[in-house]
Order: sequence, then structure tokens, then C-alpha cells
Amino acid sequence: MRLLVIEDDVDLNRQLKTALEEAGYVVDCSFDGEDGHYLGETEPYDAIVLDIGLPKMDGISVLEKWRRDDISIPVLILTARDRWSDKVAGMDAGADDYVAKPFHMEEVLARVRALLRRSAGLASNEIEIGSLRLDTKSTRVTVDGSPIKLTSHEYRLLAYLVHHKDKVISRTELVEHLYDQDFDRDSNTIEVFVGRLRKKIPADLIKTVRGLGYCLSTSDHDV
Ligand code: CA
Repeated sequence: MRLLVIEDDVDLNRQLKTALEEAGYVVDCSFDGEDGHYLGETEPYDAIVLDIGLPKMDGISVLEKWRRDDISIPVLILTARDRWSDKVAGMDAGADDYVAKPFHMEEVLARVRALLRRSAGLASNEIEIGSLRLDTKSTRVTVDGSPIKLTSHEYRLLAYLVHHKDKVISRTELVEHLYDQDFDRDSNTIEVFVGRLRKKIPADLIKTVRGLGYCLSTSDHDV
């Protein structure tokens, strides 16, 4: 899952990036409204954390522009404490949720998880697919109850496929959602990671859809 953080407070931006990365996401950072708006318009993020008070373009305007252009990426806004009017304006502009500053990082993480869960149509942080169980809160993965060790890369790949269960996902889409914008992207490496992942989870769970990509599914028939 790939996220964008738009926050002009450099320290806070870094703290958010670090915490979100530790939680298993890849994170791009932006420090003003114009640049952030551009990134949100051009890159396929899974969710965006958007500060309201931003230089160049304020967060409400950024959000309104995206929504006018039919960009429906889930957005969590960061509002100033006691500014109830920001929360109302933000939600009306198309925000999916908000956190008031100062916040506990755990709250941001929980709200981001909830946004991703909702957009994937999942009811819980604990996702069970056959004998595989993935907990998006602890980032723990088990097979038949036994924990398996994944690299951060393998976890991100598995989490993306799990959130898009039964859908065919192209290599390009995986590259776009598993790497940040500075990464030298090569869709061939995806094959390598899928190969490694298949050795750690029930091998038939990730199906190759010839010419199209991959599909995580418990169904037996080929897709
Ligand atoms: Ca700010």
C-alpha cells in the first residue's frame, strides 16, 4: 500500500513517514499544497494524509480540486485542535476522516488502517484467506496458525494482494503501489518477489494470470 503525506511541518512529516513505514506502507512526502495536489493527481496512492494549513494551496482547496476531478483516493485530514470549522469544511470537501493536532501517532495509524480496510470492503484488520491470516495492525502473517517471517517488501506485496483478493492485479499496478516515487522501478523484480512469497505461503494462493498479472484467490479453477 502506497501513501502520500502532505504536511509542511518538516519534523511532523518525517515522524508520520517513519511511523507509516514501520506499519508496512511505502510513503511519499510532500511539503506544500501545490506539489501535494500534483502528486495526488498523478500517482495512484491507496490513501493520503493531508494537512489543512499548507503553503501555496491550503488543504481544503487541494481536496476540493481532487474531488472535482473525480480523484476518489481516501483522504485523512489533519486539523488544528479546537478548529471545529476545519473538520466540517474538510469532511464537506470530501475528506473520509480527520485527526486533530496534536495527535497520538497510534490514532493516525488506526485511522489509516480503517480507510484502507473500508476501501477494500474488509470488515476487520485480521484477514483470513484459506489457511493464511494477515493482521494489518501487527503486520503479522500466519499459515495454519504458525507465524511466517516476511521481509518488508514481501509483506507489502502480500498485503496489497490480500486487499485486492480475487482481482487480477497487473505487474505495473504492483510496482506503482509497492514502491515510492524515488524508487528505480522495474516490473521484472515483481516476479522475483512473487516467487519468494509463494515459497512462504500456500503456493497455489497466488495465481499467475497469463499476460495480465497475478490474482490472490482460494478458488481452484484457473483465472
Ligand atoms: Ca501546517
